[in-house]
Amino acid sequence: MRDFNVLIVGGGASGMYCALQLAEYGVKNVAIVEKNERLGRKLSATGNGQGNVSNTDISASHYFSSTGSAEAVLKQYDQNCLIQYLTKIGGLFSADEKGRIYPVSRQASSVTDILRFAIQKRGVRVFTGENVVGVNIGGGAKKFLVTTETDQYNADVLVLACGGMASPHFGADGAGYEFAKRLGLAVTKLDASLVRLKTDMAYIRGLKGIRLDCDVCLRRYEGEDKIDVCRRRGDVLFTESGVSGDVIFWLSAFAKSNDLLAIDFLPDFPSEKIIDFLQLKITNYPEMMMEDIMRCVVNSAVGRSVLKSCSIDFTARAKQTKERVWDIADRLKIFVLQVTGKDGFANAQVTKGGVSMKELDFALMSKKVKGLYVVGELVDIDGECGGYNLQWAFSSGAVAAKGIAARCANVD
Ligand SMILES: Cc1cc2nc3c(=O)[nH]c(=O)nc-3n(C[C@H](O)[C@H](O)[C@H](O)COP(=O)(O)OP(=O)(O)OC[C@H]3O[C@@H](n4cnc5c(N)ncnc54)[C@H](O)[C@@H]3O)c2cc1C
Repeated sequence: MRDFNVLIVGGGASGMYCALQLAEYGVKNVAIVEKNERLGRKLSATGNGQGNVSNTDISASHYFSSTGSAEAVLKQYDQNCLIQYLTKIGGLFSADEKGRIYPVSRQASSVTDILRFAIQKRGVRVFTGENVVGVNIGGGAKKFLVTTETDQYNADVLVLACGGMASPHFGADGAGYEFAKRLGLAVTKLDASLVRLKTDMAYIRGLKGIRLDCDVCLRRYEGEDKIDVCRRRGDVLFTESGVSGDVIFWLSAFAKSNDLLAIDFLPDFPSEKIIDFLQLKITNYPEMMMEDIMRCVVNSAVGRSVLKSCSIDFTARAKQTKERVWDIADRLKIFVLQVTGKDGFANAQVTKGGVSMKELDFALMSKKVKGLYVVGELVDIDGECGGYNLQWAFSSGAVAAKGIAARCANVD
């Protein structure tokens, strides 16, 4: 049995950051219990390995929750606090043209390393390879008893930083929600977000691996009405079961089965311009095959898909299709795919839903169970693609640390 003032379950982005901030506040006898053999496995894989840690625009409108808002936490600890601190402990960061903040090395593992070294230097105890299987109130002199497969830990303050259910191969597999429920906290419905969308494949089979800059509108039937839910421009990547890419990840936060994705393959060109271009080209090259005509405006495989969706043979001569340019232009501007589902937690980047914000106070401490804090993805807050989820993990860890430090000072 080991005794600590503060025990953090989970050594991911939020847990590591919380531990570090506690050390900065001078809180002693802090430990992290982590099931993986190393801290921060998921953090090292973020941003395609490049580590998109935050964003220059971190307003709360980039976050979702059915039970509260990220605003109070982000206001207490924003991207400037984060980057200032990460720089202080040895990192160097810059923002790209979209405001996404990365380490200058473009290696997510470099961020994990600076956190690991700083944690070690500040004397936080780290127990890796320790899978927590039980969390209870009561256990001798301390308030909380945490049981792993091989050991037991007592603590006055417990921080649940076990992550969500997204990409469980990195460690976080949803156990944290069970711990929270066992301690009496309400957990909202969970869903995968920032994830590929599955779609009907009729016209996009064979496009796997093609990535294009498109404008995509998410549409939904509500009764008789068709409404535009949201729209975004960015990368669309075709996959074996549907679509992926930055813009699809962003839309996935809103998408439901049966919604429609209206893809504009040529967002910089109005329909009239495309019609003029096609007409001119067909007039100048009447014997050219339609797929060759299309190749000048869009990726050739996509061009064939567009023709197929208009029931036009791609080997047809241009002169035979002169009357159909309006249909083709229409399809290039609005290529509709029906969403048939999401790819699921296995390949998602984040969990939608979690421990209800209504259960937590301004420092992310449980209103019912004093001394119990919940941070990171485990909380019912999820962000858009672009550094928002890591910022939430770091901000929530920092805010909880501040609350714990104040609490410890009062208790002492
Ligand atoms: C592939 C991928 C790429 C991503 N890219 C980005 C990005 O570029 N920018 C961005 O903002 N967000 C990104 N995200 C999301 C971001 O990584 C998460 O939101 C963030 O890591 C959540 O931090 P966390 O500390 O709450 O959880 P995690 O980082 O998941 O950490 C939780 C830790 O708790 C441990 N744990 C869980 N259960 C137990 C247990 N029973 N006992 C002991 N330990 C346990 C886990 O092993 C894990 O180490 C990405 C996610 C994925 C999957």
